[in-house]
Amino acid sequence: MKRIIFLLVLAVTHASAWAAEVSGVRLWTAPDHTRVVFDTTAPVEHKVFTLDEPDRLVLDIASASVAGALDAGAGISDQLLTGMRYARKPDGTLRVVLDLSKPARPKTFLLKPNASYGHRLVVDLYPTGATREPRVAKSTADIERARDVVVAIDAGHGGDDPGAAGSVHGTEEKRITLEIARRVKRLVDAQPGMRGVLTRSSDYYVGLRKRMDIARDNRADLFVSIHADAFRDKRVRGSSVYVLSARGASSEAARWLADKENAADLVGGVSLEDKDPALAELLMSLSQSATQHASFSAAGRVYQELGRVGKVHGRRVQQAGFLVLKSPDIPSMLVETGFISNPTEERNLRDDAYQERLATAIMRGVQDFFDDAPPPGTLLAERKRTTIKHVIARGDTLSEIADRYQVSVAVLRRTNDIRSDNLIRVGQVLVIPDS
Ligand SMILES: [Zn+2]
Repeated sequence: MKRIIFLLVLAVTHASAWAAEVSGVRLWTAPDHTRVVFDTTAPVEHKVFTLDEPDRLVLDIASASVAGALDAGAGISDQLLTGMRYARKPDGTLRVVLDLSKPARPKTFLLKPNASYGHRLVVDLYPTGATREPRVAKSTADIERARDVVVAIDAGHGGDDPGAAGSVHGTEEKRITLEIARRVKRLVDAQPGMRGVLTRSSDYYVGLRKRMDIARDNRADLFVSIHADAFRDKRVRGSSVYVLSARGASSEAARWLADKENAADLVGGVSLEDKDPALAELLMSLSQSATQHASFSAAGRVYQELGRVGKVHGRRVQQAGFLVLKSPDIPSMLVETGFISNPTEERNLRDDAYQERLATAIMRGVQDFFDDAPPPGTLLAERKRTTIKHVIARGDTLSEIADRYQVSVAVLRRTNDIRSDNLIRVGQVLVIPDS
């Protein structure tokens, strides 16, 4: 019996002899981080966490001991690391505490032996915020990366589908819609941060689903379908703006959900494919209600602008179950530019100047919508967020400031109403215009 117990103790002693020893520590100070390297006699398991007040990093190395004494504490002259302590816990864990002069984000990893060293545990400490670029530089970079807002402009009908016809000249709707769509695109393209995409560029037919696909393939932020309606009563006139009716939306959701291929890339990049049906339906309805809200908002702006051009038909934005408006993830509207069946409007719709006024109204409404709520990641969003200001420091000159922000001195003067260098003073705040 005694003999068995003795053997057991031996076995435990033997196991602990296999645990790692920390035999040395080295410190490397890099401009943006501090590296602490622990030499170990075997690969080690470890955990790391940080504490504040005062800032420190705790490193727990499982089943480890220290061979001799670790000396990194004496003469530490690091920007971040001010001291090191360690103790062995009753469970055999070696706890190493690194004292820090400021908060840091740790990154740890193991290295295998090489020609110079054995096993190593590396702790990299990044001062919090140290890797961030200066504010101005970051803003500039963001603006360079920011994308244009994309407006899909859909000329109704086309090819074998002429749409409605004028009652006097037999003007085909498909011709008018294309002419106006082209004008809208040209005006949209002329706006900084905005880009137009046509769903058809000449006289051919494009299926309604295909029109929505073209918008999605171009990552459109808004879909504007352009039409010129006809009515049996030739007196009816005026333009109108439609968004999808809630009923149309709900029945369409079921269709989208059934079609896994379509559903895969919807809802702001969240794939519905691997979600259970109830969750997928919830995500879809959330996306749809946000889209519906945005559709109403955009359509309202366009409706308002059209009111300046001429008579609007209906008191406000109307709702209908137009198939082409059923993208669950792209705010969509349908603009009936006028009733081609009304003789006056048929004449107007054929007129270059009138078409241009309609197109301008549509563009302005769209622009208003995006100015108010620019999609994240777009140039318009960056412009709205970034107003760069410079506080004049001692020794600053206008030409240096202009150089730094890459704007011309003339523009800088004009923006801030400065006539000469003598008129700038320390502490004065300059608004830096977009270069
Ligand atoms: Zn039409």
